[in-house]
Amino acid sequence: MMGHVNPPGSTFEIAVLPGDGIGIDVTAEAVKVLQATQRRFASFSLNLRSHECGAICYQETGDDLPPSTLDAVRAADAVLLGAMGHPDIRKPDGTELTPQVTLRVLLDLYAGVRPSKLYPGARTPLADVRPGSIDFVVLREQTEGLFASQTGGVVLGNQVATETLVMTRPGVRRICEFAFQLARDRQANQQRPRKVTCVDKANIFKSFAFFRKIFDEVASDYQDIHAEHAYIDAQALHLVQRPGRFDVLVTENMFGDILSDLAAGLIGGMGMAPSGDIGDRYAVFQPAHGTAPDIAGKGIANPIAAILSAAMMLDWLGKRHRHADLVNAGQAIETSVIRVLEEGKILPVDQGGSGTTTQLGDAIAGVVSRT
Ligand code: ATP
Repeated sequence: MMGHVNPPGSTFEIAVLPGDGIGIDVTAEAVKVLQATQRRFASFSLNLRSHECGAICYQETGDDLPPSTLDAVRAADAVLLGAMGHPDIRKPDGTELTPQVTLRVLLDLYAGVRPSKLYPGARTPLADVRPGSIDFVVLREQTEGLFASQTGGVVLGNQVATETLVMTRPGVRRICEFAFQLARDRQANQQRPRKVTCVDKANIFKSFAFFRKIFDEVASDYQDIHAEHAYIDAQALHLVQRPGRFDVLVTENMFGDILSDLAAGLIGGMGMAPSGDIGDRYAVFQPAHGTAPDIAGKGIANPIAAILSAAMMLDWLGKRHRHADLVNAGQAIETSVIRVLEEGKILPVDQGGSGTTTQLGDAIAGVVSRT
């Protein structure tokens, strides 16, 4: 636990961007749970303010990320985001609105942190796994790789199409440093041997051999953490067959995008998968899922991914500001999620239960403020 405790009354500004579709429903529950931490911990307060952003905002204002929202995000200590986008609302060129991706670029959120933990009651498709036996993090580099050419691909004469994969030494180095720091941090929390797996395709591509070389350089500075390599194709298999073997997996942008969805599938799907987009100065926390238009407005979205993202946010804030109770509050949220799932009286619809979004939020918030 952290040694330094801030004086009572530390206030943290949280910019809340609910967005569209189920983003709105699940964010309301995450906010409810954050407010419940306020009843339990007197040593900090959270100033939770909502701001317009997303596809509906674009429809109404012509802007999916208004300057006032961006200012609020930059001024905040952390950002809690729901989900953005709408299949029927698009830019004039036909592309979807993705202000959450714009934020990654503008705020240099290079580390996509996607934990995969198997909780009680979660509907895993795997046999022979028990709650707690899957506990790893996919760490996705988010500023370069194959996504660097996101809008810069070229189609020549309707015959040839190209995209460019970009890797820079500083870009690879900082994500690898982040991976080892994360592994060290997890070791401190859970007292079990920790390791970082570099997931690449170094046997075929020069760019990935470069990634691996830099990974090895960084690894040599972290002798206390075990370092290993895996090819992306083999890693996809390993994750399904032996998910319990992994701790931190660091990888390129596109590979991380795919692997993190596979990882979410192992622990019950998108409704159970939290995430953080983290840079050196800013961080945005959001469920890994999108706006899920098929269930939007029905009140049955699973809010657990959003609630666990809020827990990650408190943990990040607590470590950044050396504020022990924020870290404790993050842990209290996770413990409360586990308690509600273990109890099994209210289970999310996507996990085979019949609990509504609000019932789950109420139940988790109730445990947070009681225990
Ligand atoms: P996007 O393109 O923004 O990622 P999407 O709807 O295509 O949005 P997701 O929202 O990530 O993709 O999810 C795909 C499907 O998974 C949804 O249509 C929905 O059925 C299910 N799903 C996602 N999130 C949840 C959730 N929190 N609770 C229940 N089901 C969910």
